[in-house]
Amino acid sequence: MVYFVGAGPGDPELLTIKGKKLIDTADVIIYAGSLVNPTVLESAKEDCAIYDSSSMTLDDVIGVMKSAEAQGMTTVRLHTGDPSIYGAIREQTDALDRLGIAHETVPGVSSFLAAAAAMSMEYTLPDVTQTVILTRMANRTAVPEGESIRELARHHASMVIFLSVGMIERLAAELSEEYPPSTPAAVVYKAGWRDQKICSGTLENIAERVKAAGITKTALVVVGDFLGDNYSLSRLYDKAFTHGFRKGISE
Ligand code: SAH
Repeated sequence: MVYFVGAGPGDPELLTIKGKKLIDTADVIIYAGSLVNPTVLESAKEDCAIYDSSSMTLDDVIGVMKSAEAQGMTTVRLHTGDPSIYGAIREQTDALDRLGIAHETVPGVSSFLAAAAAMSMEYTLPDVTQTVILTRMANRTAVPEGESIRELARHHASMVIFLSVGMIERLAAELSEEYPPSTPAAVVYKAGWRDQKICSGTLENIAERVKAAGITKTALVVVGDFLGDNYSLSRLYDKAFTHGFRKGISE
């Protein structure tokens, strides 16, 4: 059996209980060394075979899973955050399906959730936006037509941009073509790690601030008025608003 496990953003306490149990009992662990915090591996069994996938090809990874399976072993494939976001798991699960190897996925806390938590912010504020866009800029991996930063920015929703902090200047410029330049923006570096850093500003100055802080990778760029101070109160907790779980208060 192969388990794809979301390792969370970095803090070992942000693993799910299910994910932690699997790490503790796995015979083989393949982890994405460039991003998974090695401290999450500290509780692995002493004789667990641990592989860092950053120097492996897809064939190498599948090869390790195949040989573990042939020996009746349990493999954990650890992905940072949640495996469903830029995890490249589909090519692995499809290869396992072709080999008839069973697999299951255990979700994790994605870095975009850890980033909001680090700022104590809510992406979906009433009368500001009810939509969160997760995306990236194109580089070696292309982004399909219709999903350019500019097109997505047109919605003025909350945007979380992965894998792009290294291109912050161009990113801020493209966002500013649709959001007013005074729109708040932040960069969260290593959310959930000990050396987490948050840079806040607006689209006008965020690139400069990120450069001054020396942040070039492992960071999310977030933008939108959800970072500002204007919003409406939620109806969910409004005294005058009734719903299935609470009747209105009549005075
Ligand atoms: N599956 C992961 C994303 C992998 S893509 C998830 O759900 O979070 C890798 C990108 O994710 C990085 O370039 C960076 O933009 C972001 N990232 C991953 N971990 C991060 C963290 N702890 N803090 C901030 N950004 C992070």
